[in-house]
Amino acid sequence: MTRKLFVTTALPYANGPFHVGHIMEYIQADLWVRFQRMQGHDVKFVCADDAHGAPIMIAAEKAGLTPQAFVAEVAAGRPAYLNGFHIAFDHWHSTDAPENHQLAQDIYKALRQEGLIVERTIEQFFDPDKGMFLPDRFIKGECPKCGAQDQYGDNCEVCGAVYAPTDLKHPRSALSGATPVLKSSSHFFFALSSPRCVTFLKQWAQTPGRLQGEVLNKISEWFAEDEAGQSRLADWDISRDAPYFGIRIPDTDDKYFYVWLDAPVGYLASLKALLGPAFEGYVADPEVEQVHFIGKDIVTFHTLFWPAMLHFSGRKTPQHIYVHGHLTVLGEKMSKSRGTGISPLKYLELGLDAQWLRYYIAAKLNARVEDIDFNPEDFVTRVNSDLVGKYINIASRAAGFLTKRFAGRLSADLGVEGRTLLDGLRAPSEAIASLYEERETGKALREIMALADRVNEFVDQHKPWELAKQSGQEAVLHDVCSVCIEAFRILTVYLKPVLPALAAQVEAFLQVSPLQWSDAQRDLGASGSHTIAPYQHLMQRADLTKVNQLFEAPVSTTVSTTVSPKVSPGGEDIAEEITIDDFGKVDLRIARIVKAELVEGSDKLLRLTLDVGEVDDRGQARHRNVFSGIRSAYRPEDLTGKLTVLVANLAPRKMKFGVSEGMVLSAAHADGKAHPGLYVLQPWPGATPGMRVR
Ligand SMILES: [Zn+2]
Repeated sequence: MTRKLFVTTALPYANGPFHVGHIMEYIQADLWVRFQRMQGHDVKFVCADDAHGAPIMIAAEKAGLTPQAFVAEVAAGRPAYLNGFHIAFDHWHSTDAPENHQLAQDIYKALRQEGLIVERTIEQFFDPDKGMFLPDRFIKGECPKCGAQDQYGDNCEVCGAVYAPTDLKHPRSALSGATPVLKSSSHFFFALSSPRCVTFLKQWAQTPGRLQGEVLNKISEWFAEDEAGQSRLADWDISRDAPYFGIRIPDTDDKYFYVWLDAPVGYLASLKALLGPAFEGYVADPEVEQVHFIGKDIVTFHTLFWPAMLHFSGRKTPQHIYVHGHLTVLGEKMSKSRGTGISPLKYLELGLDAQWLRYYIAAKLNARVEDIDFNPEDFVTRVNSDLVGKYINIASRAAGFLTKRFAGRLSADLGVEGRTLLDGLRAPSEAIASLYEERETGKALREIMALADRVNEFVDQHKPWELAKQSGQEAVLHDVCSVCIEAFRILTVYLKPVLPALAAQVEAFLQVSPLQWSDAQRDLGASGSHTIAPYQHLMQRADLTKVNQLFEAPVSTTVSTTVSPKVSPGGEDIAEEITIDDFGKVDLRIARIVKAELVEGSDKLLRLTLDVGEVDDRGQARHRNVFSGIRSAYRPEDLTGKLTVLVANLAPRKMKFGVSEGMVLSAAHADGKAHPGLYVLQPWPGATPGMRVR
């Protein structure tokens, strides 16, 4: 059955350019949308600039622009990012567009009709110089709790106290410096605390599949009653007094919707701009699934206010709210002052491939509300070892022979082993599809790379470069290389949601129409007449030096004049000098970890069975047994099949659990308590067991 999906990402606030957190969310949603389309589903994928509110009004004034001109400038910068990272929204709109004014006012009127809008008089700080009510963030003063100076009107950054702006001592306006005065004003509230709303929201939120477990747990706190039997959900203040940049509240002269009322309505406005007259019919269609991708900081707006607004104005509510965590850099919150901010535009300007970031983010994402971390070294390793080393390599190793020897024609035969391999790649198609559907992209990509490993084993086993030298092996060479190309095409189907531009290049190379998910089951060469184009380089390797240029030098506010204390690299001084002959005594070899196992009775050791390319007297492969103290850092299944480096001529050592025939190399800080972490060395792809390391 063809699904109808209406998918959005959160609307970015139009007070500045995108940061990498926005790009992460767009990548998550974009690849999900691309996956759905490959399944043949119908998707409308939209977003818009969130244009209203006091901060934009104030920023525009500072820039000497009207708010409209200010947000137009920001909007003009958007396509460079979206195109640059292959994020293909069907439409990008603005919450200041006429559709949004209309829809927000209609929804409000419907809520008022339902008796869910109440009017109350509240007291608020007013800036007498600017002639406006001040948002909490524009009032500064002394913390009522700890006395810290220069704190915002809603919380103290020194002691963490949360309070009302009226509690601040010596308050002043951050706009004019004037002492604000208390002034009363009439505000409109959405009656969220009414039993009707609470009952509806409970039922909506608890519908299975609607929300992630952790999100439901968090918002369920709001459904509990307090000691007095009252709902903890408070009515929501949805109005702001003029001057304000926003949408006028119907039947008032000087009241505007609070920006958070009309922001989510922007999802509908953007869709309306895309669909035109078909809009109302589409959003009312019970078959349409409405899906919002958002960050964890705006959960309340999307799981309480927004569904209630829609439901009580007679509209359909979202089927799914998919919440993701934040992106950290090197384990910390991004910070310009610490030099860990990443500008997405700089990433593109440096010539880094957008698909590397798409792949890296997809490889780290899962269906939970977890932060994911950007680490430059990890980034380079994953791109080079997975994408280039495992995937691209398959095509580059086989295509040349097909072009030179067989005029690019694929064999229809493929051989028994080849067919078995391809069947093995096709079998998990549904399972991989489910992982994409569930937003478990990290798991999906691990699965796909494990399949690529199998293909590379096939290549290593059949060695087309040797077949090419032997006479009478033409047919075998043809089959082996054709199997590789079929395998490469199947892997491309699986990777296409993440790597759309690369997939387009592959489609041109294979001379096939745009790949759909079902194409994985097809046999391209079955006719015996399909030819491929000559292979052209598909993807560069990532370079760490260049990736590190993403990080701007930390902004230093103070110039240090003291000499910094001597710091030893990795916590220990460099060892005494040795000669090249001394080093030559150590025989380091590439080893494949054939098997890794827990050692009963030891919580430190893993038992490794290593292939160093050795054979015994009878020509049988001889494996080594090595105990390694790396259990704290690796699970056995993470190591199996991996390459590492072994000290091969170390005298065998008898241990409690058996004899250890060598030592595996790993890196660690000298002070393991303060700097935990243990890293087994791994060679670049291409190294094979037995090669000496010099
Ligand atoms: Zn304080």
